[in-house]
Amino acid sequence: MSAQIIDGKAFAATVRQKVAAKVSELKTAHGITPGLAVVLVGTDPASQVYVRSKGKQTVQVGMNSFEHKLDADTSEDVLLDLIDSLNADPAVHGILVQLPLPGHLDETLVINRIAPEKDVDGFHIANVGLLGTGQKSMVPCTPLGCLLMLRDYHGSLSGKNAVVIGRSNIVGKPMAQLLLNDSCTVTIAHSRTADLPDVVRRADIVVAAVGRPEMVPGDWIKPGATVIDVGINRIDIEDGKTKLVGDVAYESCAAVAGAITPVPGGVGPMTIACLLANTVTACCRINNLTDGEDFLS
Ligand code: NAD
Repeated sequence: MSAQIIDGKAFAATVRQKVAAKVSELKTAHGITPGLAVVLVGTDPASQVYVRSKGKQTVQVGMNSFEHKLDADTSEDVLLDLIDSLNADPAVHGILVQLPLPGHLDETLVINRIAPEKDVDGFHIANVGLLGTGQKSMVPCTPLGCLLMLRDYHGSLSGKNAVVIGRSNIVGKPMAQLLLNDSCTVTIAHSRTADLPDVVRRADIVVAAVGRPEMVPGDWIKPGATVIDVGINRIDIEDGKTKLVGDVAYESCAAVAGAITPVPGGVGPMTIACLLANTVTACCRINNLTDGEDFLS
């Protein structure tokens, strides 16, 4: 194995330290405690785990955590009323509605009800438009985490050939937009892409966000390329046991790549760290403390 391992777990710990330092400064210098509200509708087990983890890490960095757990059959009106009250609450600087929502709720309507300046997931249409036009926005957490790791490893990304596999609104598209904003030449590949191996082989940077276990083999990777594996897939192994794997075949890709993120311990930990960072950014902007919002750099 030749690739350098990009340690997302360690990087996320550094991000959390910077967030905690900024939170402490906001408290002492301005008497402000950033607050993150997380709304969970229903009892999806994976969502419950994520929400618990988000709440715990929010408190660990010194912020206020507000959890709102609603029954699976909660009506759209009740959910929208809750969002309105969180939008108006000065103690809340970030609002996250855990997805997926139960089928009777319109996710687009619900997300677009969040005040854009409190939309720490960066999914509100206003933030999507701001990001798409290179303006200051709230940036979706998973792509932001990938970008921070890429910048840390490469320094400048300018002129790099980047291929993003996957075109979802939450990962693939914002990832491509961020890479474009950093002056990469970006290709977005997807399920209808012709000759995907050939497309991937041209990439200096590969971001895989597909949701198919170990889909990208090592012989698709250009020697020395950087591979960011967003995928989280649970697969069966022997004796009824399971394990987590990414969207890239780790061993064969690591043998060719210059750098690679593992699964677990790569992109995953960065996502919640970036959520915390986005909440602090939102808090700074809401309180017109914008000169201090670059606390991650
Ligand atoms: P999604 O299902 O919304 O999108 C998958 C994309 O992959 C689609 O755009 C589709 O066109 C593309 N695709 C499907 N089959 C393909 C194929 N054979 N070849 C090329 N492209 C193909 O998924 P998503 O929400 O973007 O998530 C992708 C993966 O990332 C999942 O494994 C998910 O669990 C993981 N994820 C991880 C984090 C994290 O924090 N690490 C966060 C979000 C998502």
